[in-house]
Amino acid sequence: MRDILAPESARWRRFVDVFAEVVEAAGYGPLITPLVEDSGVFAGVGEATDIVLKEMYRFTDHGGRDVALRPEFTASACRAFVEHRPPTPWKVWLSGSNFRYERPQRGRYRQFDQVDIEVLGSDDPFVDVEVIALGWRFLQRLGLRQVDLLLNSLGEPAERDLYVDALRVHFDANLDALSPASVTTLERNPLRVLDSKRAEDVELIAAAPTIDQFYGDVSAHHFGVVCDGLDSLGIPYRIEPRLVRGLDYYVRTAFEFAGGTLDSAQNALGGGGRYDGLVEQLGGPQTPGIGFALGVDRTLLACDDEGVFASPGTAVDVFVVDTTGGEHALVVAEALRAAGRSAERAFDRRSMKAQMKAADRSGAALAVIIGADEAADGTAVVRPMRGGGEQYVVARPDLLAHVDALLT
Ligand code: AMP
Repeated sequence: MRDILAPESARWRRFVDVFAEVVEAAGYGPLITPLVEDSGVFAGVGEATDIVLKEMYRFTDHGGRDVALRPEFTASACRAFVEHRPPTPWKVWLSGSNFRYERPQRGRYRQFDQVDIEVLGSDDPFVDVEVIALGWRFLQRLGLRQVDLLLNSLGEPAERDLYVDALRVHFDANLDALSPASVTTLERNPLRVLDSKRAEDVELIAAAPTIDQFYGDVSAHHFGVVCDGLDSLGIPYRIEPRLVRGLDYYVRTAFEFAGGTLDSAQNALGGGGRYDGLVEQLGGPQTPGIGFALGVDRTLLACDDEGVFASPGTAVDVFVVDTTGGEHALVVAEALRAAGRSAERAFDRRSMKAQMKAADRSGAALAVIIGADEAADGTAVVRPMRGGGEQYVVARPDLLAHVDALLT
């Protein structure tokens, strides 16, 4: 876990703002859920996956309740849906911190932020296309160009079951060649073996059966509509038959956004897919859902690699210098802020020289200077700080108009 200071913190906020702009333009509303939930909300999410087995921050609170810090958004969104029963399709976006007790490494933390959308209550394949397209558009808006969209369909649950059996047979027949870690994974969930990036496993995974051999008409049709929809939007993708989401409730569409500049073992900016049964598991009616989550850290690493989406500037419009004690700076800075200009000032009765230095550091476009003479006359000096221009004296009542004229 770590602190994020300005200007990086400002970039994080801007990241979420851009995400909100993109998804709100498609009718997604913000959803804010608690950081702490009953552990049962997440228990189903990670059945036999790492999240539940060892990664959840789970504890007993003062009231003896078994609670956990949110490890991801989807289960919280489904729990909120069950509790409030909003009209469907329910289209929401979320942002904020999630917690997983993971081994820290570059771009991986125990508290990390994601942005996320979820749609509940429709299994129309055009919803899949909309959701994927919004993720794509957001990454494009950040300026990223080296992003690969990987796409797959996991079929219907019965088809998946057959596929899992076929995978088990394939890996069982080659157990000696599999890494010890993957042998353990195989016992829990053969699908997760496909996620292994270990060198020993690569060849066996490449030779494993693929899910498309098991599609029935319905899932083949759904997947076809999704692919055609992306084609008609001109969004490039690569069908990746070994892209799986290991959890039992994932069905049909699965996708991932991979950062082209990132190390291949850690290159997923985020991903998502269609799920079924999660709402029911939390006590609601049978309700299909789809969504994705993007990690802020990795996406910003990708931005750094591509030299896009820099930290927003922190420069203020005006720095007010007051060598008479600070009360004029108080009034003038507040008046500027009330008029919609950003303004800073110095404190601690610093010298003229020290205040001018601070003005320069602030990046302000203008300095407004009030010394003893100006205080006595009811005037102020306006000094352009960048790009030349002479300083001049204005009457205090005219100050705002001059600032406006100089800044526009
Ligand atoms: P997931 O919710 O596991 O599908 O992860 C979606 C995305 O969240 C990943 O592709 C990462 O970008 C990000 N992410 C997941 N876990 C972490 C973590 N521990 N630290 C930083 N980012 C993470």
